[in-house]
Amino acid sequence: MINQSFYSYLLSILHLLLIIHSTCSNDELTTSLKSESTRTHWINMIFGSLVSMLIGILISSYINHYQLRDIKITFQSSKEELLNMYSRDIESRKSKEVKGLSNFIPLTPYKYVHIDETTSPIIAEDLIIQAKRTKKFTIVFHGDILSKELFIEIELIQKFQSIITRIEIFKNSTPVYDRIKQLLSVIIDASNTIQTWGDINKNLFHYKDYGFFIYDKLQTVRLIDIRQDFKLWYNATFSHSTNCGQIIDFIDIDGPLCSCSHRPYKSSTDTWSLWKAISYTFDENIYKTNSNIHECLAITKISKVIEEKWTGKQTLD
Ligand SMILES: [Zn+2]
Repeated sequence: MINQSFYSYLLSILHLLLIIHSTCSNDELTTSLKSESTRTHWINMIFGSLVSMLIGILISSYINHYQLRDIKITFQSSKEELLNMYSRDIESRKSKEVKGLSNFIPLTPYKYVHIDETTSPIIAEDLIIQAKRTKKFTIVFHGDILSKELFIEIELIQKFQSIITRIEIFKNSTPVYDRIKQLLSVIIDASNTIQTWGDINKNLFHYKDYGFFIYDKLQTVRLIDIRQDFKLWYNATFSHSTNCGQIIDFIDIDGPLCSCSHRPYKSSTDTWSLWKAISYTFDENIYKTNSNIHECLAITKISKVIEEKWTGKQTLD
């Protein structure tokens, strides 16, 4: 509203100035013509002012509309990020108390590399070499958006040994800054396969301000949402029990009539958490240890199972 009044006011003043200017320059007109001319000028002035105000209102309404849309997007993204972050955090804390699950075991051994603003550029350069040799990656976003402690965790999926790197997000232009930007540019490339758990684009708003993050590039690559593929594989592999009320024409979807203990979700629109996916499939707990560097490895493990069309029995062998 402030914008609206301001633009209208500005345009009205501009119009009045033009009228005054033209009135002053007509001093040499005869007296008889002057009264007629003054009336016409007043009508023009009022009409002109109204038109100016209308244009002002239209321009400011247009600007307001887009500002409001941006605010809505910001609010929506923040809300979703917060919900995601806290539900994962609660599940992580709760899951430590769950008994009967074994420690998570990745399918391949891995090497871990932590990167923050103090890391030597040589370490990042070595990762760039490794990333160039890799075609498949898994990406997870961690952190606390309120304290601005944000991390990107990436697994470089290689045949015999994966490399997990956790990059701490920062703004200072330290020697490693450009190397990280280069590393992310090599990884987030249309020629690579990038796996995620859920739609990560919804949760990236707070990463947008960090230069090396190449937020825009991430919007252009095809991300494979393993969570969606997992739901299809799990429901087909672990069908409803024969006495389950949800069996309708042998459709494997989740539903409110389901009484199966091996199917934790009772609505077709429910989404699997990564922790539940691993615990129901493998009887393993990804949060048993304090480190959460297992999330990438867990997504990769599930992707492999789906890709190789494992049976239920294979997952427990
Ligand atoms: Zn069922």
